[in-house]
Amino acid sequence: MTTQNLPGQPQLAYRGNELFTESMRLRDLAKQHGTPLFVYSKASMLSALASYQRGFAGRKVQICYAMKANPALGVIQVFAQAGCGFDIVSAGDMDRVLAAGGKAEKIIFSGVGKTRFEMRRALEAGIGCFNVESEAELEVLSEVALSLGLRAPVSLRVNPNVDPKTHPYISTGLKSSKFGVAHERVVQTYQRAAELAGVRVVGIDCHIGSQITQEAPYLDAVDRMLDLVEAIEAAGIPIHHLDFGGGLGIDYNGETPPGADQLWKKMLAKLDARGFGQRQLMIEPGRSLVGNAGVCLTEVIYLKPGEQKNFCIIDAAMNDLPRPAMYQAYHQIVPLTPRPDAPKQWDVVGPVCESGDWIGHDRTLAVQSGDLLAVLSAGAYCMSMASNYNSRARAAEVLVDGSHAHLIRRRETIVEQMQQELLL
Ligand SMILES: *Cc1c(COP(=O)(O)O)cnc(C)c1O
Repeated sequence: MTTQNLPGQPQLAYRGNELFTESMRLRDLAKQHGTPLFVYSKASMLSALASYQRGFAGRKVQICYAMKANPALGVIQVFAQAGCGFDIVSAGDMDRVLAAGGKAEKIIFSGVGKTRFEMRRALEAGIGCFNVESEAELEVLSEVALSLGLRAPVSLRVNPNVDPKTHPYISTGLKSSKFGVAHERVVQTYQRAAELAGVRVVGIDCHIGSQITQEAPYLDAVDRMLDLVEAIEAAGIPIHHLDFGGGLGIDYNGETPPGADQLWKKMLAKLDARGFGQRQLMIEPGRSLVGNAGVCLTEVIYLKPGEQKNFCIIDAAMNDLPRPAMYQAYHQIVPLTPRPDAPKQWDVVGPVCESGDWIGHDRTLAVQSGDLLAVLSAGAYCMSMASNYNSRARAAEVLVDGSHAHLIRRRETIVEQMQQELLL
């Protein structure tokens, strides 16, 4: 039997005429669990993590998985067991980490709108660091910590004002962004932090954007960050850890982001050259750890050929795969069992009542109704942004480990969807 790997998709391969993840035939999973179905490869997640670990060999680093990319308990377990910490953006995220066996002291809490309630919960749990995003948040955090008789460990998320050259909705390190403390106010804000009795400065943090496919923005951010660290330390405030955020892109459609190991080799050379190579480092990768570890399996419901467009209507939709509708994002779409027939051009769309509900435009596919397709690169920012729009149930999720498949989330039922609601 011939094996044919898919470019940029290390865990996926056609064996004979069937698509496999690791040792699992995807068709079998679709038959057993129904569609739409998310399937994740544990080996692929661990190999993405290993690239970072190679890059940081011999250094002090805490890798905090940015779990908003995919917060499934089973996925959190994989990273917790591999020794990762977690970057969270809500108290709900924290509860997930703790429920999956992650350690509170390895949690860092990001986000521009932490509430007092969330601060209290995270302080009581004893998380490792709050990445504070504004002066107002700093004051409130100090107050909340004092009310509990605690001191909150803080890092300021600084806005290094570099252009990550990615989609505007996922650029976060520009002056115009809502994220982080403006570059020119950073030293002042650290001085204020040093005065506040309820906080303890432990680090500095930045996160410049997402799906970054070039190394230049990262290298620029290192210089901008180290300039700030030097200025803050010159003002008498020691910075224990340096957190460079996440954002490294993946190959959706032939993009060629640097490998995490290659990128960090260059970043560390820069840190070494400026005398910071032996500091405690942190990073917050999300998409690059899980994005290409996942696929969404879907069935073709109807074909609707037309004069101007041919529509291939599938049972997955924008509520399952929101990235095309949100950012005009591209996902490859491939058949689980390729047909020998001549392919045609199809717009692959979901059943949701919105013209924005498309998954792929102008795709060359040989398909018939009843065929199974895989939407690739669906491990990050798909299920985590899934909704119940059109009263659609959220999909089931399976984590493959070699020849074993763990169901990590059952398909939602309509009863579960209506559970929170009350009749008049
Ligand atoms: C979303 C986010 C990340 C992860 O970004 P990816 O592009 O998924 O790597 C890291 N840090 C913060 C603060 C984030 O908001």
